[in-house]
Amino acid sequence: MKSTSIDSANHSASSWEMYTSRAYAPYSGRAEVVLCQGIHGLYPGVRIENASYPCTIEALQGAFGLATMFHDPIHTIWAPPGQRIDPALLHAFGASTQQVRVSETPPTGSSSSWMWVPNLFLPETSLETDSVSAERQQWRLQQLDKTLRWSRPSHSHFPVAALLETDLGIIRGANTETSIWPLGLCAERNAIHAAKALGATPGDTIMVHAPKSQVCSPCGTCRQTMFEVGIHEVYMVHGDLSTTHYPMASLLPFQFQSDLGNESSGAGAGGK
Ligand SMILES: [Zn+2]
Repeated sequence: MKSTSIDSANHSASSWEMYTSRAYAPYSGRAEVVLCQGIHGLYPGVRIENASYPCTIEALQGAFGLATMFHDPIHTIWAPPGQRIDPALLHAFGASTQQVRVSETPPTGSSSSWMWVPNLFLPETSLETDSVSAERQQWRLQQLDKTLRWSRPSHSHFPVAALLETDLGIIRGANTETSIWPLGLCAERNAIHAAKALGATPGDTIMVHAPKSQVCSPCGTCRQTMFEVGIHEVYMVHGDLSTTHYPMASLLPFQFQSDLGNESSGAGAGGK
């Protein structure tokens, strides 16, 4: 039901501007983007900065997170003119500068190459639970369970799935890991990056499930990232499928903020 608007919102951009406008770079002004081409699709990556700079998601990191969820090996990395891609970062993802193509216009995916895009979104925009039926809540748990199939915890063997409210539907993310641990992305941050890279605006609420955990609880980096993009409510679905709910403010008191951002909406303004 949502696929029409998602398709038109995400496909066939004739300029890089559509992608750069989705990056969040209030601290550096470097709205970096890439499109990583695999066998099954084109994976957009956009830079998502954080007031705590090391918590920033690099464009390449986000795109590889997406491709990894879909088990898709990347063969070509497209970038706009003038944007530098750090060779060390490429190398960290098993890629090389020979795979980078600088192009005045972004490649346009055929509709089949974007088959994975509708997979990410569910046709519902809200994770609100106060007035939701037991059946609907059960459906959400099933979606979390299905999303675990995209998890690639090749080192930790600890799968995690997340559902995130956005204006284009609930988007799903799973954790992906690489041999260089800090370059992997938790389920929450894969969902947040995917939302932004696909032109959606993250909403208030995220739901996270870690089936192997007694207590499912987002890590500190994810909390800092959630705060930066304005997520206010966190539902934690534990290993036994019991669910607890916390406001962001109680999960990350005294969150790191700075006055360095050049946008008033930056520095954890809560997405207002
Ligand atoms: Zn995390």
